[in-house]
Amino acid sequence: MPQYDFRCDACQLRFSVNTRSYAEYDAAALICPECESAELSRLITDVAVRKPRRDYRKMSSGEMLSVLESGDQQQVNRMFKQVGGDGAASAAPARKSRDAAQGSQSSTGSD
Ligand SMILES: [Zn+2]
Repeated sequence: MPQYDFRCDACQLRFSVNTRSYAEYDAAALICPECESAELSRLITDVAVRKPRRDYRKMSSGEMLSVLESGDQQQVNRMFKQVGGDGAASAAPARKSRDAAQGSQSSTGSD
């Protein structure tokens, strides 16, 4: 019996569906068993790992480690960009300038 793997685009849940034919699951109007979203991506084993739009923020620490250990600098950079987003690297200067702006606003009030 063929098995089809899907990933929910909404909650990233991965699940498998066993059907007798492609037509059968196509007609079934599949939804995510977790959040009932219909935004599903068909996964093909092994190829799925290479998906360019990987959401690193939802990776487990084990998966992140495997990315680091892969030595793929591009992937590592992308991962940190996503994970760091408004957290690590960009947050320090951003917060600083915001504090400064608030400070000058409240103290001078020139505008
Ligand atoms: Zn879902």
